[in-house]
Amino acid sequence: MNPSCRTTLTQFLIEERRRFPHASGDFNSLVLNVALACKSIARQVALGALGGGADGGAVNVQGETQHGLDVAGNRTFLEFNEWGGNLAGMASEEMAEPYQIPPCYPKGNYLLLFDPLDGSSNIDVNVAVGSIFSVLRAPGGAAAVAAADFLQAGATQVAAGYAIYGPATMLVLSVGNGVHGFTLDQALGEFMLTHPALAIPAATREFAINASNSRFWETPVKRYVDECLAGRSGVRGKDFNMRWIASLVAEAHRILMRGGVFLYPCDSRNPDVQGRLRLLYEANPVGFLVEQAGGRASTGRRPLLDVAPSALHQRIGLVFGAREEVDRIERYHHDAHPADLPSPLFHEHGLFRAPA
Ligand code: MN
Ligand code: MN
Repeated sequence: MNPSCRTTLTQFLIEERRRFPHASGDFNSLVLNVALACKSIARQVALGALGGGADGGAVNVQGETQHGLDVAGNRTFLEFNEWGGNLAGMASEEMAEPYQIPPCYPKGNYLLLFDPLDGSSNIDVNVAVGSIFSVLRAPGGAAAVAAADFLQAGATQVAAGYAIYGPATMLVLSVGNGVHGFTLDQALGEFMLTHPALAIPAATREFAINASNSRFWETPVKRYVDECLAGRSGVRGKDFNMRWIASLVAEAHRILMRGGVFLYPCDSRNPDVQGRLRLLYEANPVGFLVEQAGGRASTGRRPLLDVAPSALHQRIGLVFGAREEVDRIERYHHDAHPADLPSPLFHEHGLFRAPA
């Protein structure tokens, strides 16, 4: 194919917008600003050790040591998006509180949530990292934002996506009409549509889980993994491969490209913390993409995108990918005796929430 015949991200967004004749165009410029931030971060990441300043030294709101690029990526997202007039506020993995749009800029009706650099511990070994983002409507319009404004179930996302900084830089995006992958043409500086209408096969022979946590797993997760490991001789009757990159973006990307199932379940390690991944700017955007690609995303017990968030930096158990596998994992949780599951009182489907 002649590369000049490819659709650019800009053209894609304009054609999508034509489906909504009354749309203002604010949304498109928001996505293009996010894409520009990702192109800038791709350049910073590509410098590797030449970029200097690997050690951010500080500890973020999550209690994690910040890489220099965590801090730089966060600043990049803020600076490329604060001026556009389409946002009421932003929230980031790297900031305890929501970011207010500076008074010198107009405000808009959207909220942007992001993990500016996901998997940053992989940078020093030159393994793919990424940025994840989620777009919500601002419930209070253009007023000052509070954390509560961001506490919306994943199903309400207007758009979600990630950039992956691998051998190629890609942007994978959903505006609620399927999932589409764009590859950065470095010479043009444009994301070109290369992977339209991504679809996750319903069945798979690949699973991804951090097996070093197996002693903390709940019974349904142990059962699921044991059955995968038993392979052809077990109840599944087929052999499985295991994959683990320890970078959510890279795991999600592999599953969108060729299928599979990913688990980072709740476990018994710390009863006060449910799961590892952050609901609002990691799990929800990935879940939105996966469901838009025909897969499923779950807490292990119920659909992820139905979860009503309770805190900006809330963590959650996450299972996503091939529909049949996620269905099976949920079924194993529902089959399990409640005594097998830790802290039901404080669980996301516990006493204080209606049953799913
Ligand atoms: Mn992350
Ligand atoms: Mn991060």
